[in-house]
Amino acid sequence: MSGGAAPFLPRQPINEALRIAGEKISRDRIIEIRHPYDGTLAGTVPKATLDDVRRALRTARDFKSTLTRHDRYRILMRAGALIASRRDELARLITLESGLSLKDSQYEVGRAMDVLLFAANLALVDDGEVFSCDLTAHGKNRKVYTLKEPLQGAIVAITPFNHPLNQVIHKVAPAVATNNRVVLKPSEKTPLTAYALADILYEAGLPPAMLSVLTGDPAEIADELLTSADVDLVTFTGGVATGKYIAGKAVYKRQILELGGNDPIIVLEDADIEEAASLAAGGSYKNSGQRCTAVKRILVQETVADRFVELLVEKTRAVRYGDPFDPTMDMGTVIDEASARRFETVVNEAVGQGAKLLIGNVRRGALYSPTVLDDVVPSMTVVRQETFGPVSPVIRFKTVDEAISIANGTPYGLSSSLCTNRIDLITRFIQELQVGSVNVREVPGYRLEMTPFGGIKDSGLGYKEGVKEAMRSFCNTKTYSLPW
Ligand code: NAD
Repeated sequence: MSGGAAPFLPRQPINEALRIAGEKISRDRIIEIRHPYDGTLAGTVPKATLDDVRRALRTARDFKSTLTRHDRYRILMRAGALIASRRDELARLITLESGLSLKDSQYEVGRAMDVLLFAANLALVDDGEVFSCDLTAHGKNRKVYTLKEPLQGAIVAITPFNHPLNQVIHKVAPAVATNNRVVLKPSEKTPLTAYALADILYEAGLPPAMLSVLTGDPAEIADELLTSADVDLVTFTGGVATGKYIAGKAVYKRQILELGGNDPIIVLEDADIEEAASLAAGGSYKNSGQRCTAVKRILVQETVADRFVELLVEKTRAVRYGDPFDPTMDMGTVIDEASARRFETVVNEAVGQGAKLLIGNVRRGALYSPTVLDDVVPSMTVVRQETFGPVSPVIRFKTVDEAISIANGTPYGLSSSLCTNRIDLITRFIQELQVGSVNVREVPGYRLEMTPFGGIKDSGLGYKEGVKEAMRSFCNTKTYSLPW
């Protein structure tokens, strides 16, 4: 841990209002947002009432956008330019409410700009298909054309705390690109960035009726968001328990569920061990380990494990963590003290069951140090469940069969990383891993904002995000046929 540059202190808390079709609405009942590093009051957001939710949904359903492709392109590009011009301000806001280091927040703002760039450009691409009908003996001289239309009802977007900007924009930008109307409920832990983003989109020219933002107590407002007849689609990113609740509640609505992960990095004996250790450390600690695709299990072949672990500890020791507003820090806090305490508990439990703590497991409030555990076995809680923090648990294995069986031996199936140069093994792992993505010699989280992304098993229903896939699932396909 290290101290450093002057902390960023907001002059006063940011007291936000709901945005219902752009209109700012305050409520007496509020939620406080505290900076996880020192507990400073960062801001407050209103608790929406059921009437607020109903009004937002009805407005979204009733509004029919007439924006052309060019209009949508320009709005999204303008929003990207506004974000670029406020990059530092937005990064500081993310850091303020999440405790993520400024380095992580800056990176996240850059990713959000990529999302807007891709969504803008994909809005220009014609998504129709043409089918000639004279293809078979009973064919005709006709053609069938397809047309992508926005949904009739509203899209409800529910997002988690760990990427306060990027998770939100991955739902909102594809919706704008396809002329849909969104009611967004960001995490009540990190809602301030979502409100700032909504204002940027309005400023960029988005008709306010196309985006409302609501915060509140899920126990009061979630069911209305999930069951209202005004809603056609629920797109959710968050934990498995919440995702399964939504799956049972949002009946006869399209559901996109991007849930938790327990991603392995698998290091085989022929791998470049230096590279593998760098990927494992980066994958474990970036974003304070709070990524759905963070490295959560490190599977290393026994013959190279000692050297690998030595390098991993070295790289872990080099991670600078502390005051999230110190620009030299690699890692800030995790989201709150309760989460940091949970990591401490599962790490202590693993040590009690025979794992070796090599570095870390030091906690101060919500600050939790990068931690390496060796000799972990798959039955330990730290790897059986998703540990959503900067913990690197090393599981040693002997054979490739064993590695595949351990990797697949969890309810999750989001992404994975494989370190080897052997093409025979690369093809085997790609075929046999039960996951949505396999990244060879890259972290599990590697992606373009446009590439298909999402998991199977408990990590999701298999419908992907990524701008292109999201645009596809946010549309109805209509066909029409013409007599030539
Ligand atoms: P969470 O499930 O606790 O909360 C996510 C959102 O759901 C929040 O906005 C919350 O208010 C809302 N919510 C809570 N109860 C609800 C209910 N009954 N009905 C509807 N919505 C409800 O998740 P979190 O702790 O904010 O985020 C961490 C989790 O998200 C981790 O498991 C992580 O792996 C996962 N995640 C997945 C992806 C992915 O793309 N697969 C990406 C990022 C995070």
